[in-house]
Amino acid sequence: MVAQPERNLILLGGPGAGKGTQSQRLAVRFGIPQISTGDMLRAARREGTPLGKEADKYMAAGQLVPDSVVIGLVEERLKAADTKPGFILDGFPRTVPQADALSAVLKKLGRGPLRVIEVAVAESVLHERLGGRISCPKCGASYHVKFTPPKVADTCDTCGTKGLITRADDKPEAISQRLREYADKTAPLIDYYTKAGLLKRIDGVGDLEIVLGRVVQALDG
Ligand code: AMP
Repeated sequence: MVAQPERNLILLGGPGAGKGTQSQRLAVRFGIPQISTGDMLRAARREGTPLGKEADKYMAAGQLVPDSVVIGLVEERLKAADTKPGFILDGFPRTVPQADALSAVLKKLGRGPLRVIEVAVAESVLHERLGGRISCPKCGASYHVKFTPPKVADTCDTCGTKGLITRADDKPEAISQRLREYADKTAPLIDYYTKAGLLKRIDGVGDLEIVLGRVVQALDG
């Protein structure tokens, strides 16, 4: 059997660009884990760990959690054996120091090169998508009242919990803050990875399967 090359992927894009949804699909397609720092932080928050309590202050306000916290989480996760064939980073890196730290970690672990896909979506569309987001308070699965509603109203498809909620960071003030954080701290990574010759940009607006097709084509091309 011919060994598959490592697929070390980053999906980059604003909050609500569809990184989570696309990452989940890519993970299944390529048989590699999705690593979402947002999901990891929300899990820590639900469990009430010291890290979760610390992160909560920032997350509820739509601010980025300090670099040192998320870098530590990702470094630990990348040491796990299931990431050897590759991984999909969703929501990390979000700042230049995080991107620098990631390169250093991959080098230290002797891992192959990165590929970065920018899922491009206009800010007005991000606003609309984030505005209608509802989530399961138990398992964290997320839906959109208009675009991807749950099968049974107000009920989680994944775990059956009734009473879906608007996350604190999906409330209007936090949404504006998250978009500002993206523009100020994360968007510079587009330039960073373009200069490194690692980035490909795809149009993130359209049917989920069509967007997935664009991502796969960008990776295969
Ligand atoms: P997400 O689900 O990826 O939109 O992340 C939700 C929230 O978690 C963000 O608004 C941040 O507060 C925090 N967060 C997730 N990933 C990072 C990261 N790489 N750096 C800093 N904060 C993060």
